Amino acid sequence: MITANSLSAQPKSWQMLWREAVRDPRELLEILDLGHLAGQISDQAAAQFPLRVPRGFIAKMRRGDANDPLLRQVLPIQDEEQIVEGYGFDAVGDAAAKGGTGIIHKYHARALLITTGSCAIHCRYCFRRHFPYAEETAASQHWAEAITYLKSDSSITELILSGGDPLSLSTAKLKELTDAIAMMPQIKRLRLHTRLPVVLPERIDAELLDWIHGLRWPLTVVIHANHAQELMPDVAEAVSKLRRAGATMLNQAVLLKGVNDQASEQIELSERLFDIGVLPYYLHQLDKVQGAAHFQIDDEQALAIHQSMMQALPGYLVPKLVREVPGEASKTPL
Ligand SMILES: *Cc1c(COP(=O)(O)O)cnc(C)c1O
Ligand code: SF4
Repeated sequence: MITANSLSAQPKSWQMLWREAVRDPRELLEILDLGHLAGQISDQAAAQFPLRVPRGFIAKMRRGDANDPLLRQVLPIQDEEQIVEGYGFDAVGDAAAKGGTGIIHKYHARALLITTGSCAIHCRYCFRRHFPYAEETAASQHWAEAITYLKSDSSITELILSGGDPLSLSTAKLKELTDAIAMMPQIKRLRLHTRLPVVLPERIDAELLDWIHGLRWPLTVVIHANHAQELMPDVAEAVSKLRRAGATMLNQAVLLKGVNDQASEQIELSERLFDIGVLPYYLHQLDKVQGAAHFQIDDEQALAIHQSMMQALPGYLVPKLVREVPGEASKTPL
């Protein structure tokens, strides 16, 4: 018999959790017992790139701690209003690299598809805060132009689904895409760049795992966690499901002042990633995007952190320290 009780015990769908994300900076501060910090909020920054953070991610923040590394990644603050020279609106040259609607083809043999502009969380340091998503979203074209582009260039052997966050699309939409590229023999590998296993691990549901099981290529999932505190048991469980479905799991992180700029934090992140079944892949020096200058760490400090990691960790737990230089044929080591 279905009672009100058994119904309420049903876990919420990821779509429902998505919709319940907090979007009001003052509400976020109230939840964290930090209401007295409301004066630091920038309404201008929030209007340009709204706050968005799933409640499950908020639950991993420390109450009463204004310097919490997870909070700092999402709270729009007045520092973002500074206009800093050398910081732009298309920090990595995406506008120039557009090959067809939604495709960014900058590197040999791999093409990146902007599947959607949506993300479950809005990260203040993200270069996509200024990206004109509306025109660049392949899904809105039913993938047609992207697929035409891929077919026209047989040197592309790996397709990277990115965004925004590709897992913000419905699984049916993802399947529509992979069914269309299944006809293309040149594609040998598929990759997902996604923060959802970290910020909304409920997204890794049975339907998604079925889709992964049915793929005809080896799948690599590159997650994005910046701090060990993000990697709680719910994330470990999501990663373990992805691994059992056959995915190779990697992580990319961004070096951020006041979030993860201590060598001890980076070492802990690598160790925690390994514990849950993920290898560190890239540690990015921040893209110079307008509004994010207060997160910047200088290169000497970045290299010193990396050196400490090499001394403390086995080589396979040391990510490559890189930056994105427009026009280069790959990520550039520091
Ligand atoms: C980072 C990136 C890739 C992937 O580079 P890898 O070194 O293969 O991880 C591909 N295309 C674009 C446009 C990128 O920015
Ligand atoms: S693209 Fe990634 S880093 Fe940027 S806002 Fe979305 S989840 Fe955050």
